[in-house]
Amino acid sequence: MGRRSSHAPLPGNACRPLRMQDYISRHALRRRCPGVLCGEAPMAEAAAAAPRPAPDVDSDECLREYRHLFSPDILAGQVAFITGGGSGIGFRIAEIFMRHGCRTVIASRNLQRVSEASKKLVAATGQQCLPLSLDVRQPQTIEAAVDEALKEFKRIDILINGAAGNFLCPASALSFNAFKTVIDIDTIGTFNTSKVLFEKYFRDHGGIIVNITATLSYRGQALQVHAGSAKAAIDAMTRHLAVEWGPNNIRVNSLAPGPITGTEGYRRLGGKFAEEGGQFDMIPLQRAGNKTEIAHSTLYLASPLSSYVTGTTLVVDGGSWLTSANNFPALLDFWAAGANKNQ
Ligand code: NAP
Repeated sequence: MGRRSSHAPLPGNACRPLRMQDYISRHALRRRCPGVLCGEAPMAEAAAAAPRPAPDVDSDECLREYRHLFSPDILAGQVAFITGGGSGIGFRIAEIFMRHGCRTVIASRNLQRVSEASKKLVAATGQQCLPLSLDVRQPQTIEAAVDEALKEFKRIDILINGAAGNFLCPASALSFNAFKTVIDIDTIGTFNTSKVLFEKYFRDHGGIIVNITATLSYRGQALQVHAGSAKAAIDAMTRHLAVEWGPNNIRVNSLAPGPITGTEGYRRLGGKFAEEGGQFDMIPLQRAGNKTEIAHSTLYLASPLSSYVTGTTLVVDGGSWLTSANNFPALLDFWAAGANKNQ
């Protein structure tokens, strides 16, 4: 007997044309209660066919186990400078790079945070990791950190611009200063760090820059005018710098994550709230992503596998921005409930 098409109408509605809601319901039900739908393939068969996300842990800890998908020495001998590398996505990027032979510099404002992160990374991977303090809004602090990194490692091959600040806030309640602060950290911070690296090393030696951005501006995400504007400007910067610096053998790309579990962004921007409300059922891949998945896509952009890729934005969001509702009332509720009262 042939397997039922996943696009077939639900039992009992054989004559009614299929609606989007049927499709969503079938997939949500299949995910929560595998095997309950009439004619479903046995669980083991379905599990074998489904693409599995790479395992992750939600906290800022290293992975308990890791299986290489890329060649383990794909970044051997290289050095990556990662802003925001002490937490969340930046921490996991540092870990995955180190598991592929790379030494790292992880830099942010809080020296204690990056120092503790560095100890964990070294213990898990056996690679070197230099923790440094800088504020991407202050070029002198970036220059000092890059000097220190070059003194230690004599080279920097990869720059990951991951430092950012974000929170939910309606435009009408956003102060002038709050908008400016996000532009200062995300957009101007990305330019400052890229320019310092260019002048101190990449101009003469080439290099790779990956800017971590977001999909927020693609559909005018509610309560995100500050971060959406800041990240859209970085995507533009990516193209400008790719054009100007390509002749110096510098590749510049953006990577735009969707909702990523186990991160500050997920906590602050209502990720759990959306998950519990079933909103991720609308995402084509029907789930949030994890930090390891973002790190693997960043590794692709930082490796020779993408040697002819520059000036582009790689969206890593399970198709989220294409289908997810821009849920203004739900986000306002979440904001009003005080989830961001410290902003
Ligand atoms: P996170 O852990 O809060 O990472 C942000 C990092 O930036 C922190 O380590 C912070 O460290 C550093 N930072 C902030 N201001 C800085 C400054 N002025 N100078 C230097 N470092 C600074 O958040 P995350 O959620 O993992 O996000 C990481 C990146 O992914 C961000 O670019 C974010 O916009 C992007 N992203 C995340 C998601 C998501 O779902 N999480 C989705 C789309 C895009 P200090 O406090 O020590 O400075």
